[in-house]
Amino acid sequence: MMTREEACDLFRSPDLIGIGMAADAVRRTLHPEGVVSYIIDRNINYTNFCTEYCTFCAFYRPLGHAEGYILPQEVIFQKIQETLDLGGTGVLMQGGLHPDLKIEWYEDLMRSIKQRFRIHLHCFSSPEIVNIAEVSGLSLRDTIARLRDAGLDSIPGGGAEILDDAVRHRISRLKCSTQEWADVHLEAHRLGMRTTATMMFGCGETIEQRVAHLQLVRQIQEETGGFTAFIPWTFQRENTSLGRTVKEEATAVEYLKTLAISRLYLDNIDNVQSSWVTQGLKTCQVGLRFGGNDVGSIMIEENVVSSAGAHHRASEEELRRIIRDAGFTPRQRDTLYRTFFLN
Ligand code: SF4
Repeated sequence: MMTREEACDLFRSPDLIGIGMAADAVRRTLHPEGVVSYIIDRNINYTNFCTEYCTFCAFYRPLGHAEGYILPQEVIFQKIQETLDLGGTGVLMQGGLHPDLKIEWYEDLMRSIKQRFRIHLHCFSSPEIVNIAEVSGLSLRDTIARLRDAGLDSIPGGGAEILDDAVRHRISRLKCSTQEWADVHLEAHRLGMRTTATMMFGCGETIEQRVAHLQLVRQIQEETGGFTAFIPWTFQRENTSLGRTVKEEATAVEYLKTLAISRLYLDNIDNVQSSWVTQGLKTCQVGLRFGGNDVGSIMIEENVVSSAGAHHRASEEELRRIIRDAGFTPRQRDTLYRTFFLN
């Protein structure tokens, strides 16, 4: 097991290829069959109204803003039908933090979807769950249990950014704390629900803060085993206020090194995702030799990172080609990383 000091030393090491090879060896131990997975799903951003003003976010609109919206259920149903028609198996539904939407609104949405469709609902990251609990006067546990009973299948790891309160104070002062992010995942895992963990890096954090994030994720996983995957990506500057102070985005080398160190440090999490949405297809492909065993989603729709300047596009065939060309077998998976499809 790698120590924090060893992880920090690797971040400072110039031996990119050596770190990548070590991560590739861990990936091979966990996934000896040489499969790289992807999912067909859709992001649905049910509202862009938000009260948190995170400085890295170009997606939200303040309450009352002319460009603000809450999607009507009919529109959400239509998007889900389109997803199913395209061979999709799940939706990732996330939105801003709305002070007027109480748990009944979310329960009704989950139930109405499940009544109409057979689809996996991977929805509401920690800040949203914390917000729903607060505006509804409920505990985190009751909030998650009620959402689960209404149809929520799993919880995405968004809103983690860097799990260090000094960093959070600088970039997302109003949003949930490190402890709250962790508590949502711990409670969900205790209720038998799986979740993912993410990290948005390159927002001016120190190496030690990045490693503290990895350590917290590893510690939760040791306790519960509930994370299916770890998904690191880089801060995208365009249209964000943080982009005025953090002037340089993480480079491909920094991305690959962080991906590889994540794979090495989090050897208790099965899957690590290489991101084409923020890095582009070519760096994503190289990431498959730096510890990544999954390329995420063929996104039918994504509004959050595209608002901040990530405009990469990919079709299923393109993703399958880059996976094959890196020496792996591409395989479709579902939200829980099960690869039982016949392709
Ligand atoms: S990142 Fe999420 S919580 Fe922060 S402003 Fe954007 S939508 Fe709101």
